[in-house]
Amino acid sequence: MVRVDGSGSASSLIHVRGLDKKYYRGGEEIHVLQGLNLDVDQGDFVAFMGPSGSGKTTLLNLLGGLDVPSAGSITVAGDEITHMSRGNLTEWRARHVGFVFQMYNLIPVLTAFQNVELPLLLTKLSKTERRKHVETALGVVGLSDRMNHFPRQLSGGQEQRVTIARAIVSDPTFLLCDEPTGDLDRKSADEIMALILTLVKQDKKTVLMVTHDPQVADRADVTLHLNKGALVEASKLEGARLEGTRSEGVTSGGAR
Ligand code: ADP
Ligand code: MG
Repeated sequence: MVRVDGSGSASSLIHVRGLDKKYYRGGEEIHVLQGLNLDVDQGDFVAFMGPSGSGKTTLLNLLGGLDVPSAGSITVAGDEITHMSRGNLTEWRARHVGFVFQMYNLIPVLTAFQNVELPLLLTKLSKTERRKHVETALGVVGLSDRMNHFPRQLSGGQEQRVTIARAIVSDPTFLLCDEPTGDLDRKSADEIMALILTLVKQDKKTVLMVTHDPQVADRADVTLHLNKGALVEASKLEGARLEGTRSEGVTSGGAR
């Protein structure tokens, strides 16, 4: 079950407390996340929404160990990641996190097969085992017949499916998706969503996804809005609005 009020148990798969993130730019402080709490269990499918600049990408980067918070703690499957060394964090990330970004981030000079194999090069798997895992992952996303294609020979939807294959090939603890359908036409977006839903329902994957698309968010177990640096459940947002805490982008410190 997903909770944002700090009431979740410390044994949640993802357990975030008092998460704070400040950026400094030109002498100005930007307080993006302000004491954010979040608990996510194995198999949950969470959608994050919020205006541009509200901190959605910042939050995913922190959860994926790509950036470090200014304060607070992030515990995943019992590992507190906020104090890990860079080396340990890289290893942790390879084992636990699958990333799917809006821009596909595929390496243009590598084939679909080679792109998906990349995360496995960090593991101890043999070449034969790697091939088996890559073929399985490309099969899951329906691209068994495109393994030797280069990214430029694929459609946007197919490229995003390769990204998903790369994200799941090492069987990570959870997937972080940042507007995975944002750059796609409606039909491709629907296909990608159907695929992510299959991963959640059939393969019991834990998925945390940023989206602007209400249709996409509707398919998630819960939609959380970033509101003044913290998370609010969509169903409770209307109430919050009535109390005058309207959803806004991040307010920077000092006069604007
Ligand atoms: P979203 O993904 O919701 O659009 P972001 O997390 O990308 O928002 O950004 C939140 C705020 O933090 C924005 O005001 C953005 O300009 C600022 N920000 C993000 N990354 C940095 C950075 N590396 N340095 C300074 N400011 C940043
Ligand atoms: Mg973003």
